Amino acid sequence: QAAKAARDGGSMVKLGEALIGSEEFTVIAGPCSVETQSQLSKTARAVQQAGAHALRGGVFKPRTSPYAFQGLGRAGLDLAQVAREETGLPFVTEVVDVRDVEILAENVDMLQIGARNMQNYALLREVGATRIPVLLKRGLAATIDETLMAAEYLLDGGNSQVVLCERGIRAFESGYRFALDLTAVTVFRERTHLPVIVDPSHAAGATDRVIPLALAAAACGADGIIVESHCDPASALCDGKQALPVEDLPELMQRLRFAATAG
Ligand code: PEP
Ligand code: MN
Repeated sequence: QAAKAARDGGSMVKLGEALIGSEEFTVIAGPCSVETQSQLSKTARAVQQAGAHALRGGVFKPRTSPYAFQGLGRAGLDLAQVAREETGLPFVTEVVDVRDVEILAENVDMLQIGARNMQNYALLREVGATRIPVLLKRGLAATIDETLMAAEYLLDGGNSQVVLCERGIRAFESGYRFALDLTAVTVFRERTHLPVIVDPSHAAGATDRVIPLALAAAACGADGIIVESHCDPASALCDGKQALPVEDLPELMQRLRFAATAG
């Protein structure tokens, strides 16, 4: 692993066996939310068998409606621990509250700061004080400068394990969920040494669009993707419409191999 080179001399962030920012394209996959042990374990096994590098899954869900499923909370961490042990995959989950930073940092492998919290400076400071890898998602309406300044909060705290994530911004179009700003990926790569990954799922809003956007991300120079995948999308408690069925993961991995080397 240590022999893997950083692309263009940028920095690399270690996540389990993967080095985000190295010449190998990193794939983080898993459900939007952790729901049950069988859902998470089944999905995790498929993620691992497809050759992806890490498992994602929200235990705290920032939902638009307070009446929507909010995630299992801390109880979801026990389910994640089982899936980690079963598969050996590192686990990535979102932190939404400063009071949960410590317990999450002790129990997961990477903390995600969601789009809605990109400018939650208290949360950035708290996570910046840890030494756990962080996935910082661009805000729904954040400029590139604002995103880079949010990353500075983490770096200023001494946490250098920062990965940026383009996940789509709010535009005028209503035919899809968010406008995936791949130009921003190229600008991030010009302006920072930090690894940059893309979330094709939340921009797509529909399963059929996920693979094309993932391939576009790889072709334009992203260091990896974080993609929502579920063992039974129709039963998902959150974001089922955009979840890639786990059966499609091998095809995604295969096609990414070509797209990522073509660029
Ligand atoms: C998520 O990854 O499940 C999520 C809520 O993403 P975002 O913060 O980008 O909306
Ligand atoms: Mn989601």
